[in-house]
Amino acid sequence: MPTVKPSHPYISRIKPYEPPDIEAAAERAGVEKEGLIRLIANENPFGPSSRVKEALADFDEYHLHPDYGRLVEAVAQYAGVTSDHVVLSNGADEMIDLLIRLFVEPGEAVVVCPPTFAMYRFYGRVNRCRVLNAPRREDLSLDVPAIERAVQQSTGEARLLFIVSPGNPSGQAIPLALTERLLELPVMVCVDEAYIEFGGESAISLLADYDNLVVIRTFSKWAGLAGLRLGYALLRPELAEYLNRVRPPYNVNSAAMVAALATFEDLEKVEANVTRLIEERERVTEALREVPWLDPLPSDTNFILIGVEGGDPDAVVDGLAKRGILIRDFSSPAMAGYVRVSVGRPDQNDALIDALERMT
Ligand code: PMP
Repeated sequence: MPTVKPSHPYISRIKPYEPPDIEAAAERAGVEKEGLIRLIANENPFGPSSRVKEALADFDEYHLHPDYGRLVEAVAQYAGVTSDHVVLSNGADEMIDLLIRLFVEPGEAVVVCPPTFAMYRFYGRVNRCRVLNAPRREDLSLDVPAIERAVQQSTGEARLLFIVSPGNPSGQAIPLALTERLLELPVMVCVDEAYIEFGGESAISLLADYDNLVVIRTFSKWAGLAGLRLGYALLRPELAEYLNRVRPPYNVNSAAMVAALATFEDLEKVEANVTRLIEERERVTEALREVPWLDPLPSDTNFILIGVEGGDPDAVVDGLAKRGILIRDFSSPAMAGYVRVSVGRPDQNDALIDALERMT
């Protein structure tokens, strides 16, 4: 029997992404899956607009290949750019992959600022690129001189820098002046705005001045469409044209397209839910400040990073899991003292606060 092996040794060293095992978590907590309080993946607890279900049921062109014209137009209007700046993707995740394929040759480098969203490294490695680290400072802010050094010392191999604003997992937005300074570097700069609807200043206004800027966004958080997988990039038209050359022609399915159009038709209600989540974020942060061994950090996103002082984050995650509340812990040493909770519905947040107040 011949043994089939991957063509590159890198691939065998990549750790596959392991999504949380929801069934097992429900069994452990002794509740039905639906009874779990899922504050682990920054999903929108209010779900999508009620118009989404209707629109999906009414759509009668599932037998045809999708035509993205209307959606591209609607996204452009929402983002305040012309439609030739917009490229759609199957979740923002796919856009990370496409950008690396477009801008970075195998053997060249992407620059990431850990602790950060794991997919930049993941797709860098999948695409046989080097991944250069410019670690964040201890307060999780970007270390700009470290980024500049990483780019300069790579002697031209660094091609694409990923920053995320507001940040995951830091929760902090990056000031625009700082983004501008990074845009002076001789690399493409990808500003990941997956959480921009919850806070921070968008870098879109900088597209007019910098041709090495690409902003990526998603419908997963604000629009509650994580399961339908829709993201997009905003970049200068001449680069968007290139990006469209590497984009699979039908990478976004008709259901995601229909759901997004329905979301735009119900924008006021969906935005009202975003406002409720922001209010809940502030309420939960304040309540958790009263718990002496917790240090919730200010957040511009739909989640809160919480320092566990003098305690064991794993024990907190475990203790909550037993009560059917799922939150996120971290394996990287830089995040050792932290847990992350997504902002849920008011009743879910009450349950979280109550459970944490009871733990000593
Ligand atoms: N960027 C960041 C910073 C994220 O946290 C996420 C979602 N976890 C994504 C991108 C990916 O979003 P999508 O669901 O659209 O792939």
